[in-house]
Amino acid sequence: MHSEDTMAARVAQVRQRIDAACARAGRPAGSVALLPVSKTFPPQAVREAAALGLRRFGENKTQEIRQKAPELADLDIQWVMIGHLQTNKAKDAARDAAEVQSLDRLDLAHALQRRLEAAGRQLDVLVQVKTSPEPSKHGLPPEEAPAFLRTLASECPALRVRGLMTMAVQSDDAQAVRACFRALRMLQEQLRQEAISGVELDRLSMGMSGDFEIAIEEGATEVRIGSAIFGARNYGQAG
Ligand SMILES: *Cc1c(COP(=O)(O)O)cnc(C)c1O
Repeated sequence: MHSEDTMAARVAQVRQRIDAACARAGRPAGSVALLPVSKTFPPQAVREAAALGLRRFGENKTQEIRQKAPELADLDIQWVMIGHLQTNKAKDAARDAAEVQSLDRLDLAHALQRRLEAAGRQLDVLVQVKTSPEPSKHGLPPEEAPAFLRTLASECPALRVRGLMTMAVQSDDAQAVRACFRALRMLQEQLRQEAISGVELDRLSMGMSGDFEIAIEEGATEVRIGSAIFGARNYGQAG
């Protein structure tokens, strides 16, 4: 064991693995973005990652963004909501997040729309789709996606749809994981056929520390990486 366990080394290793997966899949190096997921980690960890050139950070609670942001106000960074967002937190998300990747239902879309309209702002969103049978996973059922996007396009002009997001089934069976990612990619293609005006579907946010290489092979344009960069999470301590 000679490899040093620093955040710089972990980020470099994740980037190498991303590049290797791109090469295997015949995709250009640099075609997959890295979204570091800082949930449960303190502001100092975000600062350390920012010093390595990372600029966007995934969080899954609006309260946590609120807690961390003041200590990091000197940094040029953005927050991305990736966790289940309660409708009564739409105000906080519209104020503090540069992007929401976990948009999965209309009442949330309408709540965000109202807040953004009042603030005169727009927000990039990805639609989270449920590709896994696990009841614990959030997301819009794939078959509801076409109607959902049409409604967003007509009723929520402050939401700029940029693509789709999913979480794969948590399983040791790589084929089951791959099937989730493939389902998202196929849904993207199907939805593109609908050519809904104002809706862009270029981005596919899929893959986490345990499965991002499979996601890249299946077409991910960004991977959301927490523990492989920041270390193991301790939910008890971090709330
Ligand atoms: C926590 C989380 C991640 C990152 O998970 P790791 O396994 O730590 O890489 C990615 N996406 C979502 C939606 C998450 O909640």
